[in-house]
Amino acid sequence: MKIHEFQAKQLLAKYDVVVPKGIELTDPEKAGEAFTELGKPVAVVKAQIHAGGRGKAGGVKVVKSAEEALEAARGMFGQTLVTHQTGPEGQKVRRLWIEEGSDIESEFYVGIVVDRAKQRPVMMISSEGGVDIEKVAAETPELILTATFDERGLNAMDANRLASNIGMDQQLVSDAVDMIQRLSSAFWEMDCSLAEINPMVTTHDGEVLALDAKINFDDNALFRHPELEQLRDEDEEDPNELEASKHGLSYIALDGQIGCMVNGAGLAMATMDVIKLHGAEPANFLDVGGGADKETVAKAFQIVLSDPKVQGVLVNIFGGIMKCDVIAAGVIAAVKEVDLNVPLVVRLEGTNVEIGKKMLEESGLPIITASDLDEAAVKICQAIGVEAKS
Ligand code: ADP
Ligand code: MG
Repeated sequence: MKIHEFQAKQLLAKYDVVVPKGIELTDPEKAGEAFTELGKPVAVVKAQIHAGGRGKAGGVKVVKSAEEALEAARGMFGQTLVTHQTGPEGQKVRRLWIEEGSDIESEFYVGIVVDRAKQRPVMMISSEGGVDIEKVAAETPELILTATFDERGLNAMDANRLASNIGMDQQLVSDAVDMIQRLSSAFWEMDCSLAEINPMVTTHDGEVLALDAKINFDDNALFRHPELEQLRDEDEEDPNELEASKHGLSYIALDGQIGCMVNGAGLAMATMDVIKLHGAEPANFLDVGGGADKETVAKAFQIVLSDPKVQGVLVNIFGGIMKCDVIAAGVIAAVKEVDLNVPLVVRLEGTNVEIGKKMLEESGLPIITASDLDEAAVKICQAIGVEAKS
């Protein structure tokens, strides 16, 4: 789950990470008053969307009076921001954040992700702040210093090594050490999957501050943090992913043309690989999990179909705990309910597969059945007019 910059800053402030003081706005007309309330000569109006790269897209404006703040807020609010992280469709600005402007001396990068190989979070820090860290990683990886940590947080020795080697003013290193250690505790305690401060800055007044903040939470641990779950902003989420999660289903939107309904992540990956092998691309996949009933299968089917990119649907399900006849009944119910105007290939395997197949065949519905995955992929590719390879 993603949250907004202002929410991330409010959470980090609880861990004593130093962030600029700011005010959230859902009404741009309040920006002038907010500027006055902050009471600083310079403030920054920032569009709140679940994507970075706002600065370059006009979503971060430095303002020096209440009038300028109002003008900047009016200009941003309701606009669709297109950044390198939003995709070409962009994201609509529905919230703003106005915060104290900092007199920046240098910008640094600080980020934490989970290193799967080491099974630990890894802190990354770099002198190359404020720019695309992906570019730094690709071109000058030696400029990124790293250290892993565990539930005790980043240890003092590692924190010192990282903060002392990014070219920061010596006098401010201990503040940076505090900041990254606190960030590591916040990451661990809130079960984050990503925490990024880009940039962490030093100012001419000798402060170390987090000027931007991005936090993602591990969805699988959200049940431990009901107060974090409250921060969800449904406006920012893919409506299908949201609908799926409400029914306990995992839906992932992709860019191709075949909708995939599967059970289990491994089967999802295999299904997508075979679709690609035969020349098409998955438009999405929906994992119905192990214990879905007829209603859930029907719901899942509706979600897959509601994606306008879908030109054909491939259902590939292994009936173990969930039996093939239940899946067949769900598919039949769903097809009857929704207006199926794209080809549908169903491949079932497992418990009660013969009953399931018979139900599909006798349903009188335009359902193409297949007995193995390869055949299923070839059939759906042919059905949507993609020349199947091999
Ligand atoms: P994004 O990463 O989405 O572009 P940031 O919050 O990182 O947004 O802002 C972009 C740039 O704007 C920062 O690198 C920094 O130079 C400047 N900036 C952001 N917030 C402030 C602030 N409070 N004071 C001064 N400059 C800021
Ligand atoms: Mg940033």
